[in-house]
Amino acid sequence: MSRESFLLPNGEGYRIKSDEYSRSRGGSSEMLDVRCARCSTKVLIYQKDGPGHLKRCYSDRIAFRFVNPDKESDEALLQCPQCDQMIGRRMIYKPESREAYGLVPGSFSKRKYIPEK
Ligand SMILES: [Zn+2]
Repeated sequence: MSRESFLLPNGEGYRIKSDEYSRSRGGSSEMLDVRCARCSTKVLIYQKDGPGHLKRCYSDRIAFRFVNPDKESDEALLQCPQCDQMIGRRMIYKPESREAYGLVPGSFSKRKYIPEK
């Protein structure tokens, strides 16, 4: 498995995207494990481009979204699949006309994503 691609929890492959968005942020990307700050449940596997705080998650960089099969998920909201904590709300990042979830500060934690073997 190369550094640029890995397997997601559903067994599908993910290849780290490199395009004008990542280039405009310096060209480096990392994969993050985003969890609910309240109950530590996994929420997203996310490709973050460039340095800085995580303020929003762009839809085209969400490698994997954990869902609760017993709950109906609202696509306009990003909620913890376990405790329903509000993590983010869908928005358009105007400078790039790009769909994203604006994140609620303090509602999530993040760490480097390490693919499961
Ligand atoms: Zn939670």
